[in-house]
Amino acid sequence: MRENYLVFGSPLIQDEEINEVVQSLKTGWLGTGPKVAKFEEEFKQYTGAKYALAVNSCTAALHLSMLVLGLKPGDEVITTPMTFAATANTIIHVGATPVLVDCDPETQLIDPQKIEDAITPRTRAIIPVHLTGRPCNMDAIEDIAQRHNLTVIEDAAHAIETKYKGKKVGNISRLTCFSFYVTKNIVTGEGGMVTTNDEDLANKIKMYALHGLSRDAWKRFSDDGYKHYQVVFPGYKYNMMDLQAAIGIHQLRRVDKWLERRNEIWTMYQQAFAKLPVELPPADEADTTHARHLYTLMIDKEKAGISRDEFMGKLHQKNIGTGVHYLGIHLHPYYQDTYGYKPSDFPNATWFSERTVSLPLSAKLSNSDIEDVITAIHETLQGV
Ligand SMILES: *Cc1c(COP(=O)(O)O)cnc(C)c1O
Repeated sequence: MRENYLVFGSPLIQDEEINEVVQSLKTGWLGTGPKVAKFEEEFKQYTGAKYALAVNSCTAALHLSMLVLGLKPGDEVITTPMTFAATANTIIHVGATPVLVDCDPETQLIDPQKIEDAITPRTRAIIPVHLTGRPCNMDAIEDIAQRHNLTVIEDAAHAIETKYKGKKVGNISRLTCFSFYVTKNIVTGEGGMVTTNDEDLANKIKMYALHGLSRDAWKRFSDDGYKHYQVVFPGYKYNMMDLQAAIGIHQLRRVDKWLERRNEIWTMYQQAFAKLPVELPPADEADTTHARHLYTLMIDKEKAGISRDEFMGKLHQKNIGTGVHYLGIHLHPYYQDTYGYKPSDFPNATWFSERTVSLPLSAKLSNSDIEDVITAIHETLQGV
């Protein structure tokens, strides 16, 4: 058995970003400044979007996206139950109502037909989530949005590298939100980004993310001399710091190299588990790039002889950390109490919620780490 604990989702931090952070500390410019501007510029180039606005989380990115669209109480936003709480919470933060629709029984992604069925005169936006890094059916979703005059905001927290039919995620919909939280494919500690091709929305996001101060207020204490600013909206404190961007700049430069490594690990897992009594991730759809953010197995007690939670417990005893992505939104007490959701309302999402387990998948893993995971899983499933 391995000696030290393999932490799920531990980031790979290298010397370039360590030195960059130290350099920021030495110059004293810790807050929003030139490194944030550089990170935004490089992220813009990476996605091909016209504007990239750095913020301090994907949660902030989602919240700002809905604010600048003017969403308000009485509005409805359609999303999937198979997501992190932030997707639903930020809909609630603007006073709107989350409307969940079930996911596809193969891909776990939001089902476009069910989106269409859930549209009412109050629907304003759709938030597809590219769960695990696999792209949603954006052709169908964009088509629905156009026909019903809705805005698409992509939750791309798992999908920094994802491409859909030749198009880069970040340059498909009106607004796209990314995360650089510690477990994501690239990290800044906490951090997020909104991309858009709409200049007006971009200007508003920038402003709303920093107290609603007029443009470039972050330069107000720079060596250009003091600048007056004006408050034009009661904004938020969502700006990214240079200390965070210092990490992100170097992480972003490695993202495609790291994706190759993630692909290698993915293939090793697919081969190693092919004959086990568990469900593996489905094949990629043609002409798409999967970001390989999460590798998930479905553990069905009937077939595997062990429940998902027992399986996670056994791996934990063998020093392998795993995760659950996710317990569906409709299974949490707040949303059940507030919206009356029952497990049977979204049977596919409930099925996945009870069976899904995410294995370690990161550029930090060595081949011997991967071997340890594979061995531990074989032992666990043979021992039942
Ligand atoms: C991580 C995550 C978020 C939130 O990202 P933060 O940067 O932690 O705010 C939102 N949606 C999904 C699907 C996520 O995985």
